[in-house]
Amino acid sequence: MTQPDFSTLSKDNIVAFIGDIFDRRGDEEYLGEDVTMAQHMLQGATLAEQGGLDEDIIVSALLHDIGHFTSEFGTYHPSDTEDRHHEDAGADVLAPFFPSVVTDCVKFHVAAKRYLCATKPEYFARLSKASVHTLELQGGPMTDNEVTAFETNSNLKKIIQVRYLDEAGKIADMQTPDYAHFAPMVQRIVDAHLG
Ligand code: FE
Repeated sequence: MTQPDFSTLSKDNIVAFIGDIFDRRGDEEYLGEDVTMAQHMLQGATLAEQGGLDEDIIVSALLHDIGHFTSEFGTYHPSDTEDRHHEDAGADVLAPFFPSVVTDCVKFHVAAKRYLCATKPEYFARLSKASVHTLELQGGPMTDNEVTAFETNSNLKKIIQVRYLDEAGKIADMQTPDYAHFAPMVQRIVDAHLG
């Protein structure tokens, strides 16, 4: 897979650029779940909006897996024996345009799974089969030292909220608005950040 050209992106076209990714690639399979990639991210954003959560959390949930589309490593496949680090690829693309709370929620949504598995025994039971498989590729539950370091992130609370939305957004028959519904919100976050 070749890497898209990100050099032409600006605050005036990043929202449309992401929308184009949803249009072109959104129907791809999501980690062997019952939802497509677009459905998964739209469900997380919709659940966040319905729950009255902050716009930065809604947008983070909407974009958390965008790295599955932008990574030069390609998308995840159940036969993978190595992690592809989609969370870093996604955060890198978003970083010039979005505040750190959003990029942290994207960058650390995998770490948050490893964190919650280490600190909340009941959380592991919520993971889907595909998510348990990727957990192993991602390093398994955090060690005590990793937990301590992770808890120093000032965006920890929102990172965890987005992780729960990630887990929740795997509903086979859930209806959601499409990307266009969220686009003005995404633009507001970009504009507030870049002024
Ligand atoms: Fe996800």
